[in-house]
Amino acid sequence: MHKVIILGTGPAGLTAAIYLARANMAPVVIEGPEPGGQLTTTTDVENFPGFPDGIMGPELMDNMRKQAERFGAEFKRGWVTEVDLSKRPFTLSVDSLGEVKTEALVISTGASAKLLGIPGEKENMGQGVSTCATCDGFFYRGKKIAIVGGGDSAMEEATFLTKFASEVTVVHRREELRASKIMQDRARENDKIKWALNRSPVEVVKKEEGGVKGLKVKNSQTDEEELIEVDGIFVAIGHHPNTKFLDGQLNTDELGYIDVEPGTTKTSIEGVFACGDVQDHTYRQAITAAGTGCMAAMDTEKFLEGSATIDWSQNL
Ligand code: NAP
Repeated sequence: MHKVIILGTGPAGLTAAIYLARANMAPVVIEGPEPGGQLTTTTDVENFPGFPDGIMGPELMDNMRKQAERFGAEFKRGWVTEVDLSKRPFTLSVDSLGEVKTEALVISTGASAKLLGIPGEKENMGQGVSTCATCDGFFYRGKKIAIVGGGDSAMEEATFLTKFASEVTVVHRREELRASKIMQDRARENDKIKWALNRSPVEVVKKEEGGVKGLKVKNSQTDEEELIEVDGIFVAIGHHPNTKFLDGQLNTDELGYIDVEPGTTKTSIEGVFACGDVQDHTYRQAITAAGTGCMAAMDTEKFLEGSATIDWSQNL
């Protein structure tokens, strides 16, 4: 049985791992299909304190991981298919490891890219449709791209994609952008970026010979449909929390984000803690995720120190 298992390896999980390893709690970190989390799919991180010239997202995550390993955190690859939080110790079913038991659990499974849910989107994923500019931008050298969304992610990715594409069209369903002023300004100053505002995506249109022909959109002012001819479509419309595997065993809000006791990382079950984007849809920054990872480690440490008084046979 493990003392504490951490699920997820974004800034929250890795910060929790650093703190728990330094506190001699021998944390076991289970990393899923996207080790390092969302920051591994981003480019320059300019707002993480301590890096005056910025740092690349993957490098930042790699550094955090090495720091956790240096203090003895153990990393295992796997996908958690089921959890049983109804009795102690908690049981996790992990595809690569079978059943594992733990006294405490830190959930930092983050959030994943949302999709538009329009015809042609899923079928062409990886073949003209992408949710990761950093991963796939390179394939669109000299080509035309559309990016869907009006938030900071869309602005950042549109700007990044101009390094490769001949033209990037931002497709947004409203007139006003949600993005911060600095990110909007940067995108607006870029001559390679065009704007298709008040347009909602309707369909990803394929070429007969394969590949994407364009994005069909509906103009909300005229109600007319039009085709924006592009070779690639990047979807940057936000994220949803990765909490499905919990199967309703923890209290969450209506969007699925885990409820925590205000000012702590304590969930509705004692001994289970949540940190990072899986419990935060307001701030969603690497630094706030790391901060809550530290809180989760300290809350876990306190729980484990007091665990001698816990009745381990009691159903929760
Ligand atoms: P977001 O702020 O939630 O923006 C999502 C955008 O997608 C919105 O403009 C939204 O339109 C649009 N959208 C959502 N669902 C849609 C649909 N079904 N069809 C068409 N459009 C749809 O998400 P985000 O841009 O990923 O940013 C998330 C958080 O990360 C924010 O707090 C952001 O500040 C932060 N972030 C920061 C940086 C940075 O500072 N370097 C970079 C990236 C992200 P509406 O506006 O009409 O709702």
